[in-house]
Amino acid sequence: MSFSVHGIAVSSGVAIGRAVLVASSRMDVAHYFVESEQIVEEITRLRRARDAVVAEIVKVQQSLQDLTDKEGHVELSALLDVHLMMLQDEQLTDGVKHWIVERRYNAEWALTSQLEVVARQFDEMEDPYLRERKADLEQVVERMLRVMRGVASPVAQPPAPGRRSQQDLLLDDTVDVPLVLVAHDLSPADMLQFKQSVFAGFVTDVGGKTSHTAIVARSMDIPAVVGARSASHIVMQDDWVIIDGDAGVLIVDPSPIILAEYGFKQRQSEVERQRLSRLRNTPAVTLDGQKVELLANIERPADGASALSVGAVGVGLFRSEFLFMGRQGNLPDEEEQYQAYVAAVLGMQGLPVTIRTVDAGADKPLDRSSRGGDDHLNPALGLRAIRWSLAEPAMFLSQLRAILRAAAHGPVHLLVPMLAHVSEIRQTLSFIDRARGQLNARGQAYGPVKVGAMIEVPAAALMVDVFLRYFDFLSIGTNDLIQYTLAIDRVDESVAHLYDPMHPAVLELMARTIAAGHAHGKTVSVCGELAGDVGMTRLLLGLGLRSFSMHPSQILAVKQQVLRADTTKLRVLAQAALQDEEPGRVMAS
Ligand code: PEP
Ligand code: MG
Repeated sequence: MSFSVHGIAVSSGVAIGRAVLVASSRMDVAHYFVESEQIVEEITRLRRARDAVVAEIVKVQQSLQDLTDKEGHVELSALLDVHLMMLQDEQLTDGVKHWIVERRYNAEWALTSQLEVVARQFDEMEDPYLRERKADLEQVVERMLRVMRGVASPVAQPPAPGRRSQQDLLLDDTVDVPLVLVAHDLSPADMLQFKQSVFAGFVTDVGGKTSHTAIVARSMDIPAVVGARSASHIVMQDDWVIIDGDAGVLIVDPSPIILAEYGFKQRQSEVERQRLSRLRNTPAVTLDGQKVELLANIERPADGASALSVGAVGVGLFRSEFLFMGRQGNLPDEEEQYQAYVAAVLGMQGLPVTIRTVDAGADKPLDRSSRGGDDHLNPALGLRAIRWSLAEPAMFLSQLRAILRAAAHGPVHLLVPMLAHVSEIRQTLSFIDRARGQLNARGQAYGPVKVGAMIEVPAAALMVDVFLRYFDFLSIGTNDLIQYTLAIDRVDESVAHLYDPMHPAVLELMARTIAAGHAHGKTVSVCGELAGDVGMTRLLLGLGLRSFSMHPSQILAVKQQVLRADTTKLRVLAQAALQDEEPGRVMAS
């Protein structure tokens, strides 16, 4: 039976495919596709894990038998028997093999996928005793996962098939239909891993429009819906689904008529995409001759290729924290970072690359071992971004040295996130000097960098003149600026309706930052999601913004807006919007 689930639209377009449910983050497993020649190894890995768990359980049972007080352990022994039975159960083992062979999931992912299938059957059982056995099954699976984690994977890195078209997928005889990912939640690190995969779309139960999970989905340029509440509970593994990334809707088990309608929509957006691609080499200049800089936001050095393919004139934000995530405490050292930054710089072929120092924390946790626990009461207001960097001098200095060294290979700007205090500004600049001093002492080459600050805390926007005294350029992080100005957690879907970029207070802070930049003759960019929102382009141009940084997938659509804009008219409109209690109404007029 067809039904739909409503959530928050975060990445536009239509995806039609089979649902792939990924296990909850509680299980914390890697998800990647294996090549056909690795299938046997994956199955072997799985069998070894199962055998190891069986051996563990048998050992426990034996030690129970050796105990004098057998009475109290009869029940436990019986329970272990149940666990052993489950491990041998064909439904589990055959099912897991199915996911590996047919879908090429890695062993851990296959195991957790099958766990979901079997767990649902337990949920539907009438007998409460049997229903409760689901917990046993979960324990057994967790034990296997633990064993697998300890055994080095023969597949060190997921293969990177790149983004494949639906046609490619249809031609592929193993992954024969597009796959749509459905999850309760996905960490930004998970998303980054999926970036190399073949998913045609994403849906998550939780998340807001500017959560980092949503941001990475947008960067992949595939339809995505977040905040779809119970989607991961009501969608079943392998269900046919449609994601409407414009309306924020997930349609499950669509009827043929609905499928045909969405198929048509999909073809239309492909036509639109082709049309926009013609603007790639057109300079971004408004009708009244104002030049506008359209830059790209990237998460990995390799993303530079898509930036160039849409005619970006540089990278306005390289979120370096993605190099730091999901590393089980082994943070990238100076050399590894240096290599990554050089790759980004060389990849951009002489165009500037703005590397932001690590902005970990809040909804971008590294992992527990490297942060000493992410269970802070209020992580968005806690030790994130520059606060963390200043608290970890060795880590910060190694990142700064890596960035400065990369600057010897091409134009690099260094951007500092979340500054709010003059003391932080001074400390940061003195760290940069120290990093240079260390490189001098080592006799190592480095290049010049322009140093900029993110304006993403209201305090920073209110003291923008002070910032301009210290920095070469500014970049407004509207995602956080909105979060902190309106006091709404950007990852919490229950307050997502309060996310309002047109709120007069937000506009006022942006306007004063842009105006102050002009007054000091320094560049001010916007690198938050607003920069790529075509509904905001006119207003931002009217406020005087001439530098936008966004995901490559948005650049051509924003360029189209720029080409149609007349900033002399928009300036008047933006001024009127700033005076109004409902600026959105003015802009719509
Ligand atoms: C922002 O806050 O707008 C921004 C660009 O930084 P991030 O989204 O990574 O916090
Ligand atoms: Mg930010």
